[in-house]
Amino acid sequence: MADCLFCRIVARQLEAKVVFEDNKLVAIHDINPAAPVHILLIPKKHLGSLSEVSEEDVELLGHLQVTASRLARELNLESYRLVNNCGVSAGQSVFHIHYHLLGGRNFQWPPG
Ligand code: 5GP
Ligand code: ZN
Repeated sequence: MADCLFCRIVARQLEAKVVFEDNKLVAIHDINPAAPVHILLIPKKHLGSLSEVSEEDVELLGHLQVTASRLARELNLESYRLVNNCGVSAGQSVFHIHYHLLGGRNFQWPPG
């Protein structure tokens, strides 16, 4: 989508600090980190949010989680959070599905 921020990052039309990329996703450093490690895992396929996924996205979403696990391992993160904000009230601000991989500090529960 031409007017989607993350589609433009995926297409390398906008700069980002890329941590990992394959044919299904790109992982980048968040521009405004909320933890010492804050990586965004962004599927290349445009989906507005988690509420838009369907059965055909099972493999993609699985791949995303396995990649998050591998990146966390490579970064020596013993504990971490993998977060998806779905919808405005949940804190979603970019409407292209993505997961936050957060680590390097203590986290509270329940989240704010
Ligand atoms: P959301 O609020 O939708 O769950 O997460 C969007 C995330 O994207 C935020 O953590 C925000 O800091 C990050 N972000 C917004 N614009 C950019 C950008 O241009 N580049 C990068 N790397 N991250 C961005
Ligand atoms: Zn998009």
